[in-house]
Amino acid sequence: MVEEFKIVPFECRGCWHVWEEEYVVRHVDDRRGNEREVWLRDGLPVPPPSSGVICPRCGSQQATTFPEGYLAHHPELIPSVEPTAPDATPLLSPVRKPLY
Ligand SMILES: [Zn+2]
Repeated sequence: MVEEFKIVPFECRGCWHVWEEEYVVRHVDDRRGNEREVWLRDGLPVPPPSSGVICPRCGSQQATTFPEGYLAHHPELIPSVEPTAPDATPLLSPVRKPLY
């Protein structure tokens, strides 16, 4: 049995919210030697992310997945990775809210 750690990026087609979910994909052999994948989140079996993911922001079921690794090439889509530049006067600069 092999377990694979995956971070799957999603985008909501309703509100364009982008987020990621962490999964463990467990490859198991059934008794006939066929391999199948069991997707786990927080240790619990869940449906594969390709089907019916619900947007945590607006509750839409129109969420879609990105190809794996997509967000690594589009870091601007993840609001939380914006680096905080060193600022000599941090109290005077208002914190911009992410657009997402
Ligand atoms: Zn949404």
